[in-house]
Amino acid sequence: MNRKEILDSLESHSPTVLIVGAGINGVGAFRDLALNGVDTLIIDRGDFCSGASATSSRMAHGGIRYLENGEFRLVREAVQERNRMIQNAPALVKPLPTTIPMFKLFSGLLNAPLKFLGWLERPSERGALVIKIGLIFYDAFTGRANAQRAVPRHQFLGRTKSLTRWNRLNPLIRFTATYYDGLILSPERLSLELVIDAEKEGNHARALNYVSLVGVDGNTVILRDETNGQTFNVQTKLIVNAAGPWIDPTNRTLGLSTHYIGPTKGSHLVLDNPELREAIGDHEFFFENKDGRIVLIFPLFDKVMIGTSDIPIDDPESVRCTEEEVDYFIEMVGRVFPDITVTREQIVFRFSGVRPLAYTGSAKTTGQITRDHHIREDKLGKIPVYSLVGGKWTSFRAFSEQVTDKALAFLGQTRKADTRNLPIGAGADAAALRTLPNFTRDEIIEMVKREKVVHLDDLLLRRTLLGYLGQLTRPLVEQMADWTGEALGWDAQRKKDEVSRTVEILADRHQVRLD
Ligand SMILES: Cc1cc2nc3c(=O)[nH]c(=O)nc-3n(C[C@H](O)[C@H](O)[C@H](O)COP(=O)(O)OP(=O)(O)OC[C@H]3O[C@@H](n4cnc5c(N)ncnc54)[C@H](O)[C@@H]3O)c2cc1C
Repeated sequence: MNRKEILDSLESHSPTVLIVGAGINGVGAFRDLALNGVDTLIIDRGDFCSGASATSSRMAHGGIRYLENGEFRLVREAVQERNRMIQNAPALVKPLPTTIPMFKLFSGLLNAPLKFLGWLERPSERGALVIKIGLIFYDAFTGRANAQRAVPRHQFLGRTKSLTRWNRLNPLIRFTATYYDGLILSPERLSLELVIDAEKEGNHARALNYVSLVGVDGNTVILRDETNGQTFNVQTKLIVNAAGPWIDPTNRTLGLSTHYIGPTKGSHLVLDNPELREAIGDHEFFFENKDGRIVLIFPLFDKVMIGTSDIPIDDPESVRCTEEEVDYFIEMVGRVFPDITVTREQIVFRFSGVRPLAYTGSAKTTGQITRDHHIREDKLGKIPVYSLVGGKWTSFRAFSEQVTDKALAFLGQTRKADTRNLPIGAGADAAALRTLPNFTRDEIIEMVKREKVVHLDDLLLRRTLLGYLGQLTRPLVEQMADWTGEALGWDAQRKKDEVSRTVEILADRHQVRLD
């Protein structure tokens, strides 16, 4: 069904489950419920995958450093899920060799057990021995050398071999370790393919972007179509609050007072620096600064992505990548590749997002707050409200399975299909991952129609990688507005408005100026 058909259908046909928020956690649950025949509506006040899920570091990873917090269950699950993503979505998630440069042998040896016991206030740089122990665990979680093993085991190199292999590395390093994680080439596309897969299950699966939850009246939920401001009512048996960093405000809209989320901000830069791009090859460099914070430098097509910060915040709306963060990232690259110059002029895109971490008054640093996921349940009259707290992109499928199992039990239904080995985006057109702006008119028109594009920025920032890779120019944006308008029946004024909207978003959120 297209957008109008879905909106019309809601007048006579209310969903059994309403999911609020179409980031990866909402979308994952949507697919699993759809697969199990549950009548489900998912809404997002913006585009699909436009919240936290669009601002991640794009790593499908177990999170080796969480071992230090004693989070063995989480790491084991995330490593298994990483493998599944590589196997189930091979066009979109690739094995990513990850190299850790190390400057010390022993550092962190005492810290790790202290941290594990919760006695250490601040993290510090980990030395080679601690990293070696962590990687042995990590490999063990990946499994034996059989068909299930999606990535190779880790490898340690001493200084001489490391500098031969990585000749631009800081000569002060003492070791490097290389292990494997996964790179999610386009989280936005992966989420969208899940939505499309779910809708293929039948008309019981309905997905709407640009529809907000705005209120509640008894057992009736009030939604608003953000394209025209019209409100409408739906009734449902179960609400899944998958609003990520906005879980608490969303619960407040439902009349529930919760404090589940303690958000932290993280930013990234995308750089056009061919020298650095060549120096890292196809490897991610993953390392720590002196106070133990993680920095990553990694290849994103022909560009280099650098991240990320982890800063507690109050207001998830206003996060932006600041000049201080840029200074910090540039300084960190200099620590590992000291003779490669990085300048602000090389930045082609910046982005900043909010981790929807579980609220905890007791964690000593942001890095120590768990990335594990759980469901909190409240009641709106007789209607259960499940809030999906925490989680990682990587473990979305396992979290969705947990949500679906709970929903099926509540509805008195049994599971008839599961997602462990289910391919994602079987119909996906690999062309959508093309990075150069040489799409044809017909390709764009088809993409706009197939992929629920509502605004021009949906196409430029989420259906394609043109924005992230700094490939947008004003003539290109205008060309794309013409083709999108052709597909959606826009008049000249609407096209102009859409171009202005895109230019504004690029300038405000990504510090990209087109003129
Ligand atoms: C900087 C950063 C780096 C990260 N790096 C990684 C990584 O490398 N690997 C990894 O596995 N994980 C990573 N994560 C974690 C991961 O991205 C998040 O845990 C995950 O994306 C959260 O998804 P979500 O669906 O819960 O939230 P979101 O993606 O934020 O989705 C919530 C949605 O709810 C919508 N919404 C809010 N209010 C309403 C309303 N009233 N009505 C309708 N819709 C509403 C929003 O528009 C939004 O789209 C990172 C996160 C950040 C921020």
